[in-house]
Amino acid sequence: MKKTKASHWIGFDLGGTKMMAVVFDGSFRLLASRKAKTKGLNGKNDGLERIRTTICGALEDAGIEAGKLAGIGVGCPGPLNLDRGIILHAPNLGWRNVNLKSSLEKAFQCPAVIANDVDAGTYGEYRFGAGRGARCVLGIFPGTGIGGACIYEGRILRGRTGSCMEIGHVKVQPEGRLCGCGRRGCLESTAGRLAISAEAAAAVYRGEAPILQSLGGTDIANFKSGTLAKSIKGGDAAIENIVRAAARHIGSAAADAVNLLAPDVIVLGGGLVEALPDLIVGEVRETVLARIMPAFAKGLKIVPAELGDNAVVMGAAALAAESGGTT
Ligand SMILES: [Zn+2]
Repeated sequence: MKKTKASHWIGFDLGGTKMMAVVFDGSFRLLASRKAKTKGLNGKNDGLERIRTTICGALEDAGIEAGKLAGIGVGCPGPLNLDRGIILHAPNLGWRNVNLKSSLEKAFQCPAVIANDVDAGTYGEYRFGAGRGARCVLGIFPGTGIGGACIYEGRILRGRTGSCMEIGHVKVQPEGRLCGCGRRGCLESTAGRLAISAEAAAAVYRGEAPILQSLGGTDIANFKSGTLAKSIKGGDAAIENIVRAAARHIGSAAADAVNLLAPDVIVLGGGLVEALPDLIVGEVRETVLARIMPAFAKGLKIVPAELGDNAVVMGAAALAAESGGTT
C-alpha cells in the first residue's frame, strides 16, 4: 500500500509545569493543540509517556494519523546536547540524560529535533512574529529566569554542542543578589521574577503598596504578572519603580549584546512583558539607546513578542521542517 504523503508537523513546548503539543499543517496553520501537566517529579519515564500521549491527543483532535507526520520539533529546558537530541539536565524537572529525540523518533516513526525553549521561541518570532525578515534578532524573555537567544541570518546562534546567549547570567551588579548559577549580581538574580517579587513583598510589608496588598498580601507566590500589572495600574508607585528598575537592568544587558551583535530587532517576551508591554519595552528601549554605539541605534527596533504562548511550538515545528523531516 502506498504510504500517505507526510505533510504535518508537531511543535512541542516542554515547560517546567506544563507541556503543550500542537499539530500544524504544511503551511504552519495550527490545527489542534493539547496541554498536560509536566509532573517532572514523577520521573523521566513517566514524562516521556506524557509527552507521547499529549502528542497522540493533539493528533486525534486534529484528525491526523501519526503516519502523516513529517517531523516533530520540541522546545525544552536545557542544558541540551543539540546534535544527539538529549536533555542533559533539566533542574526544574529533576531529569538527567533524557534521550528525547530517539524516544520520539521511535514512537512516531518520523524525524525529531530538540531545541532550547528560548531559542525555539525566538526562532518562532523570527519566522512568524515580531522578528520577521530580520538579519539578526535578539530575543529576551524575562521570567523566573531571563532567557536569551539570537537568530542570525536565519540560523540559531549556538555553541559547540548546546545553546548559547545566556543573557540572564551577564553580570549587572558587582556584588548583587546570589544567583541560581552560584555567582552574584547576574541579570537573572537582579531583574528576574524572584528579585521583583522579593522587593515587591518588602514594599507591601513597609505599607508602600496598598493595591498589591489588597490583591496578594505579602505572599510572593501570589505576585503573578497580571497582579503586578494591576498594582501598577492602580497607582502603586513603589511597585512601578521596582519593575522599571528591573527593566533598566534588562536594557543594560541588552545594550552590551547590541554592541557585540548589532541586531536589527530585539524581541521582548514572557508573562511580565505581555502584562506591561509599554512600560517594560519603553524602559528597555530608553536604556539600550543611551548605552549603545550611535551607529547601531539607526533602524534598531525594540518590540514586544507577537506570538505569546505559541512562539515555542511554532518555532519548534519550523525548526523540524528546516532540518528536513520526512516529505
Ligand atoms: Zn547567574
